Amino acid sequence: MEYKAIRGTRDIAGELATYFNYLEEQARKIFAGYGYSELRTPIFESSSVFLRSLGETTDIVAKEMYMFEDKGGRSLALRPEGTAPIVRAALENNLIEPNIDTRVFYQGAMFRYDRPQAGRYRQFYQIGAEVFGNKNPLLDFEIIKIANDIIINMGITDAVLHINSVGCRECRPAYLKVLAAFLNNLQTDELCPTCNKRKDTNILRVFDCKIDTCKKVLQAAPRVLDHVCGSCSTDFLKLKEYLNKQKISFIVDEMLVRGLDYYTGTVFEILTDKLGAQAALAAGGRYDNLVQELGGKKAIPAFGFALGEDRVVELLKPLNLPLVKKPLIFLLTTDIAKHNEQIFNNFDLIEELRAKGVVVTYNSTGKSIKSQLRTANNLGAYKSVFIEPDGSFSVKDMITGHQQKIVKSEILQAIPAIYVKKE
Ligand code: AMP
Repeated sequence: MEYKAIRGTRDIAGELATYFNYLEEQARKIFAGYGYSELRTPIFESSSVFLRSLGETTDIVAKEMYMFEDKGGRSLALRPEGTAPIVRAALENNLIEPNIDTRVFYQGAMFRYDRPQAGRYRQFYQIGAEVFGNKNPLLDFEIIKIANDIIINMGITDAVLHINSVGCRECRPAYLKVLAAFLNNLQTDELCPTCNKRKDTNILRVFDCKIDTCKKVLQAAPRVLDHVCGSCSTDFLKLKEYLNKQKISFIVDEMLVRGLDYYTGTVFEILTDKLGAQAALAAGGRYDNLVQELGGKKAIPAFGFALGEDRVVELLKPLNLPLVKKPLIFLLTTDIAKHNEQIFNNFDLIEELRAKGVVVTYNSTGKSIKSQLRTANNLGAYKSVFIEPDGSFSVKDMITGHQQKIVKSEILQAIPAIYVKKE
């Protein structure tokens, strides 16, 4: 029987793993600079955490959630996104209070049963952040800036920020009525079957339709920005002012609605034109009612974003990032029969090199020198250190091929020093 990774999942190894790690390390540094601390939540939750928050008619919940019953008969779901679990955890651990900013970030795997294609996986990875406490566009700006900083820091300079407002509890219901009136005035065949259904279930999502005929018809639809209340409108204006002040360019995209029910007010996406249909690198928005909907005693306004690591990493491949590899030293013995013994006789040296930040490795099976050197080359070793049968040493520079005898006490100084100069 041949075992394979499940459709829509993949193994992340080698260079790909290096890119993921680099992105995560850089993001962590950026979060630290803004005072965000990490919150790790389990990868599965009670299904109700998502049913309550994302909305039962949203695609994620209705079609894409991995739900299962555990052996105790509980209905559980693999998390399809990070915000609802973070809100659940923040409430459970008393991390949030009204009017006191709480800043958290997360990183990890998310799961959605969607049709796999380039840039779309069933297990994918997100980095995200949430700020709780206040309804202040300064925080909308902060989160958008962080998402933007992470992307720019990766060397991706041509992604475009789209912003919109989807209105709040006060103004959205009236707008949805106007939109419904517009859609109900159309002939049934002017919209695709899915949009005809959306009219009754999740009306804002008609703006997400990728079908040309729907897109064309919706050009004439009433726009939410023309119907938002004074508070949403002022916050949106302020956000635009802050983005302009910080010279972050953006497009007001009145078709941008986001897929989840919990959003209120400002929403955003950062899009690339390099990944075909899967254009969104990061996305998020304000959600002022979710805390209370998930059991909070008071409404605590919040704003958050999630960035798709798989997609950002896809763009990193051609960018030649400055990935600094630690120097790697390959240890060889020339007397195969005494391989283990000679390695252990020099464990003091090995440990000292490792303590200096040098990677030290060797073959565990006694092999010919030629084969050991081949391994050293494949691993990208900078130097190979030969332990000769009489216990003496020589060092081979794997780049120039030059080999010379060296006394043990000098290896420690010689190797890192040479490498640091090279860096
Ligand atoms: P969303 O919550 O759908 O807005 O997702 C936030 C970000 O996660 C998106 O902008 C994508 O970059 C990424 N993302 C969402 N779904 C997937 C998926 N199935 N595969 C890979 N990345 C995804």
